[in-house]
Amino acid sequence: MYDLLIIGSGPAGLGAAIYGVRAGLNLAVIDRSPISGGQVLTTYEVDNYLGLPGISGSDMSERFREHADKLGVPFLMAEVESVEDCGEKKLVHTDEGDYEANAVILATGATHAMLGVEGEMKLAGMGVSYCATCDGAFFRGRTVAVIGGGDVAVEDAIFLAGLCKKVYLVHRREALRAAESLQRKLRSMANIEIVWNSEVTQIQGEDMVEAIVVYNNQTKESHSLDVMGVFIAVGVIPNTEMFKGFVNMDEKGYILADETCTTSVPGIFAAGDIRKKALRQIITAVADGANAVNSVQSYLI
Ligand SMILES: Cc1cc2nc3c(=O)[nH]c(=O)nc-3n(C[C@H](O)[C@H](O)[C@H](O)COP(=O)(O)OP(=O)(O)OC[C@H]3O[C@@H](n4cnc5c(N)ncnc54)[C@H](O)[C@@H]3O)c2cc1C
Repeated sequence: MYDLLIIGSGPAGLGAAIYGVRAGLNLAVIDRSPISGGQVLTTYEVDNYLGLPGISGSDMSERFREHADKLGVPFLMAEVESVEDCGEKKLVHTDEGDYEANAVILATGATHAMLGVEGEMKLAGMGVSYCATCDGAFFRGRTVAVIGGGDVAVEDAIFLAGLCKKVYLVHRREALRAAESLQRKLRSMANIEIVWNSEVTQIQGEDMVEAIVVYNNQTKESHSLDVMGVFIAVGVIPNTEMFKGFVNMDEKGYILADETCTTSVPGIFAAGDIRKKALRQIITAVADGANAVNSVQSYLI
């Protein structure tokens, strides 16, 4: 029986673990992966985390994990299938059996949807990005493309237009899904060109992105656009499927919890990318981990 179980060993889970163990809680971190770091592991370079400019994602993950190991945080490897609320006791059901705790922090993060086109995997981190806030600064003064037509894609295009020489917004339909206010802002920016009814079929380049091939689904013709960066904004899926019906979520599956990380179920807290919030970054995930432990301590008292 633990005081606290933390599900996920990404930045949010590891941040929580460090605060929890230093607060004297009997805790463990459960992750389905043997390597900690979550999405940071898939990041080529992180340049916006305080004190660690330009660090590679794998080095950062290693340093986060080393910190937790140094403080003696115990890790369990298992896939969490569900969590059950039995009043003061919470049961975490996994493919390796059940674990009991007085409180649980859910920190299972999110998965960025991929386009699934040739060149995407090969050039990920070499011009292909899933996060304009994270990587936009690497493309200052360059030409880039944003793929998508929802709020995130349009926000990314507006953000990048402030840094880049030119931004193509490639959308497979003839109308954007983004909010009208965002679309107005988009139209006011002279260096954004919308490429309508178009699907990216290939990302080209040897070591770095050089161009994308775009297929127009109306004219049935393809052409290429010279770009140095491709920002893919076709959706993010929070890893919350196993908590559906257990804690309250929004329509996209993000868990409803404010800055205290408190969910609709007493003793269950949500930290990091799974929480409904404005900015999903490493620094905000780590901060959530600390806030969640603070709330756990109040709850346990
Ligand atoms: C390509 C890319 C580049 C990025 N670049 C940056 C950047 O430069 N700067 C920045 O600040 N942010 C960046 N981000 C965003 C940042 O990585 C995330 O905001 C951050 O990792 C979220 O942390 P988290 O702990 O909430 O979730 P995650 O990092 O997603 O970690 C979740 C953990 O939970 C585990 N898990 C999931 N489901 C289960 C389950 N059922 N059972 C057990 N374990 C489970 C996973 O294995 C994983 O270890 C980037 C994201 C991506 C995808």
